[in-house]
Amino acid sequence: MHHGNITITSAGKRWGSCSADDDLSFSFRLMMAPPDIIDYVIVHELMHIIEKNHSPKFWQRVDSVMPEHKTQKRWLKDNHHKFIL
Ligand SMILES: [Zn+2]
Repeated sequence: MHHGNITITSAGKRWGSCSADDDLSFSFRLMMAPPDIIDYVIVHELMHIIEKNHSPKFWQRVDSVMPEHKTQKRWLKDNHHKFIL
């Protein structure tokens, strides 16, 4: 089993991303977000190791770990602009 690396980045507009090699990266801006938001972004990217897309199956997996994830998703949509430094 391949184990991906985790990097913290300062560039880009994304909170987190997952490469084809399962390397995860998270923006340092994420560290300023509330803990449940950090949890959501991490769960989201971890699920991309299993599902490389945003299919219904992907959201099902996110849902099984974080049934309330729609709240966090909305928060990110409403607040991401506040975190651009
Ligand atoms: Zn995604």
